[in-house]
Amino acid sequence: MVDQNKIKEAIKLLLEGIGEDPFREGLLETPDRIARMYAEIFAGLDEDAKTHLEKTFTVEDRENQGIVLVRDITFYSMCEHHFMPFYGKAHIAYIPDGKVVGLSKLARTVEVFAKRPQIQEKMTGQIADAIMEYLNPKGVMIMLEAEHMCMTMRGIKKPGSNTVTTSMRGAFMNDTNLQNTFFHMLDR
Ligand code: ZN
Repeated sequence: MVDQNKIKEAIKLLLEGIGEDPFREGLLETPDRIARMYAEIFAGLDEDAKTHLEKTFTVEDRENQGIVLVRDITFYSMCEHHFMPFYGKAHIAYIPDGKVVGLSKLARTVEVFAKRPQIQEKMTGQIADAIMEYLNPKGVMIMLEAEHMCMTMRGIKKPGSNTVTTSMRGAFMNDTNLQNTFFHMLDR
């Protein structure tokens, strides 16, 4: 559980650290606001993807199931190296093996892993692994595209640059045809 009192103390210290006065009017409520905000944006730390993925539906035609793709799932996460936001879109494809899940549950799964201190590469794999574990599909392919504030606001300052990561499991792993189908489906 997020300890809001600890966060408040830390933010007060942080304000002092940058040479600010945490007791001036504009900053007085800031530690409290940030503590409440962090409880929300790190809520995924207390969540398990299982909650969203364990309720599945059976599909009859097991052999001829094609790719299920949910694209453009907006997410917001926090880079664990700089504690700055990174945000963008997640695209999730899987080939069911007799089991499917409600489409909104895939978006919920993205949230579980986004709402933590994260790195994009790890998050991509975590989503793929969770879907493999609870849905047992023939294969999964995930792509995340994100803009990182730690790259656009500081350092090399490249606004608009996107980081793209992919993760494949099962049937997608060594099948370039399947991978290309995924990319074509994303092309619209
Ligand atoms: Zn960063």
